[in-house]
Amino acid sequence: MPENVVIIGSGPAGWAAAIYAARAALKPLVLEGANTEKNAQQQTLPLGQLNLTTEVENYPGTPAGDTRAYLASALKNPVDLPYWISANKPQPSHGINGPELMTLMRQQAVNFGTRVITDDIIKVDFKSYPFQLCALAGETFEALTVIIATGARANYLGLPSEKRFFNNGVSACAVCDGALPRFRNKPLVVVGGGDTAVEEASYLTKFAHPVYMLVRRDVMRASKIMQERALSNPRIIIKKNRVVDEILGSDDAGVTSARLKSTTDGKSEEVNCAGVFMAIGHTPNTDFLDGQLLLTEKGYIKWTTPQRTFTSVEGVFAAGDVADDYYRQAVTAAGTGCMAALDAERWLASKGH
Ligand code: FAD
Ligand code: NAP
Repeated sequence: MPENVVIIGSGPAGWAAAIYAARAALKPLVLEGANTEKNAQQQTLPLGQLNLTTEVENYPGTPAGDTRAYLASALKNPVDLPYWISANKPQPSHGINGPELMTLMRQQAVNFGTRVITDDIIKVDFKSYPFQLCALAGETFEALTVIIATGARANYLGLPSEKRFFNNGVSACAVCDGALPRFRNKPLVVVGGGDTAVEEASYLTKFAHPVYMLVRRDVMRASKIMQERALSNPRIIIKKNRVVDEILGSDDAGVTSARLKSTTDGKSEEVNCAGVFMAIGHTPNTDFLDGQLLLTEKGYIKWTTPQRTFTSVEGVFAAGDVADDYYRQAVTAAGTGCMAALDAERWLASKGH
């Protein structure tokens, strides 16, 4: 018997889709990714990008700070506290962190009857129906509908020091990490000269200064209006013709400075900074599709109908960052995951399933 719905991916989009599909009695199957060395290297292990981060303070319902105190003041009647703030654990001084949030999403989906397989889908055949899916370990699946929620991965420079200081000063998301106390009123570096880099640098100036923008050429790729925004912000210092040669610091202090290299004369300089933010683009996880779905010119899955998660193949839906090069937030990924499950349910109903 083919599966009603197979969900590929295990970030907020995948679990939101699973929760909705399970509650609609579709008995969804989630392929959550494989625990392979390759996935560890490229940061696409199960539970997605949020599993890589510390505190998440912008996901609605998960305020920063002592969650137990919030619950005590917000709720009149005592409730069963979630496990991460249970009486058996020391009183936390933090809100929810990424791995906790993702584990709860997964559990919520499982509680409603979602089945989960810890493997990658490496091949799909969307020309046959039911659709055929092939996993890394060799298992194959037939599906009446498929929801693709495989996310995207930030591009990094490839320096070993980047890995060493990841989450200890190195980040690829200013909105996510910029407000952390470690960056307050400290100098920061943003790598990149595109719109994202300007957006990230501008956002970071709310908390930190100066913010150095490193542009590897003598021109910025960012649109004129964004360039003007960077130029007119007194807290942003644009350094053209510069790349990061090395990120420096210690395991205790995290990032303390960056060594920059000129792309014109090769000269080095060191700037003090508490963080280095990468803004050099993202790569959507679509390799396994092998050209079977229409992609945008940037390589993201194309939503073919406005306000719907439809793709170029009927019965195949896409949700989250794999189809979104613009918002790239957990809450938007979860939102489109919900939409994809509703779209799949309605599509199945329209076909008499
Ligand atoms: P992802 O979270 O990218 O998850 C997709 C997962 O699917 C992959 O990790 C992998 O396990 C699985 N997968 C991929 N390919 C396959 C395959 N072929 N077969 C099976 N499984 C596969 N956003 C916020 O809103 N707030 C924050 O504080 C925040 N902090 C962040 C911090 C960091 C360090 C990063 C990197 C991102 C942060 N973001 C934050 C952005 C947020 O994490 C993403 O927008 C969100 O996770 C996207 O969710 P998604 O479900 O689309 O996919
Ligand atoms: P992008 O436009 O591709 O820019 C990437 C930047 O990173 C470029 O400056 C590029 O330099 C640089 N870069 C790439 N690899 C690098 C490396 N290894 N070392 C140093 N620098 C490197 O990506 P983006 O800024 O993420 O934007 C993506 C899309 O989203 C764009 O279409 C953008 O317009 C859009 N966007 C729009 C807004 C907005 O309108 N508000 C905001 C954010 C994003 P080179 O120029 O030399 O290649």
